[in-house]
Amino acid sequence: MSLAFENGPWKPELALVRAIDIRCEDCGRTRRMQAPAIARHVSAGCHSLIGLHDKLYCAVCRERGGLGKNLSLFPIDRGSA
Ligand SMILES: [Zn+2]
Repeated sequence: MSLAFENGPWKPELALVRAIDIRCEDCGRTRRMQAPAIARHVSAGCHSLIGLHDKLYCAVCRERGGLGKNLSLFPIDRGSA
């Protein structure tokens, strides 16, 4: 995972992605966070994938009594499919 501090003027990492696929490694559930939802997190002060990861959990696993924190985030860059 890149912290994206190397090149040029600093931009919030989350400003560089247009969507994020989120997969729960415990139950296999996936969902896609779209740009408007990402923008809400950015405006709430969450600017990095790691910070976002800390805030997310799997509701299905949590309902089952788990922590729901075994998530993988797959950012989809602007300009890619
Ligand atoms: Zn889950």
